[in-house]
Amino acid sequence: MKILLIEDEPAIADTVVYALQSEGYEVEWQSTAEAGLGSVRQGAPDLVILDIGLPDMNGFDAFGKLRAIVSSPVIFLTARNVEVDKVTGLEMGADDYVVKPFSPRELTARVRAVLRRVNDGEANNTDNNRYIAGPFHIDYPGWVISYKNSELDLTHHEFKILSALLKHPGQIFSREQLLYLAWESPEHRLDRTVDAHIKNIRAKLREIDSQHDPIRTKRGVGYYIHLLP
Ligand code: CA
Repeated sequence: MKILLIEDEPAIADTVVYALQSEGYEVEWQSTAEAGLGSVRQGAPDLVILDIGLPDMNGFDAFGKLRAIVSSPVIFLTARNVEVDKVTGLEMGADDYVVKPFSPRELTARVRAVLRRVNDGEANNTDNNRYIAGPFHIDYPGWVISYKNSELDLTHHEFKILSALLKHPGQIFSREQLLYLAWESPEHRLDRTVDAHIKNIRAKLREIDSQHDPIRTKRGVGYYIHLLP
């Protein structure tokens, strides 16, 4: 289990690193949001502990950027009595928060609880025939994706694109990646086709829920799925 700690105060970082290492976790410490995001781009940690008060970036912006790269669970470290931080943090989809000052024992307990919760969730997805991502259920043998308990009427390519996005919520897929995932024969791979299919999938999702579009566009990069917490 690899944990990434993004925290600018060395004294707090030392305590956290020591406490988690004593529990057998591998811990990487970064002291700025940029360095932390750089590390995440190299590979997804099993969990991120993110200080909200970082010198180079608002913690919530840092969280947003993190979520655009990986879906690893996140525990916020917040300053004492900053009630708004807690509320905003959980609304934004953080998995938990710990208020400073905290005891190492409290933090490791939270880490264990979050990892257990995440692993339990994954256990529900060990059946390779079915996959659950928030309001979406994928049934592979049946080539069916249900959204909010309604079956979507998808074409073969739409199914492949949407299931790829759903398997990695928050991960941005370029048009090229989606083309390779969804089309077997190279001669039919045209960038614009992906846009057209995404448009069709969105229309089908809108028929079920017109309020929230779970497919997000990262301008100039590609598409990703954003699941509400
Ligand atoms: Ca700080």
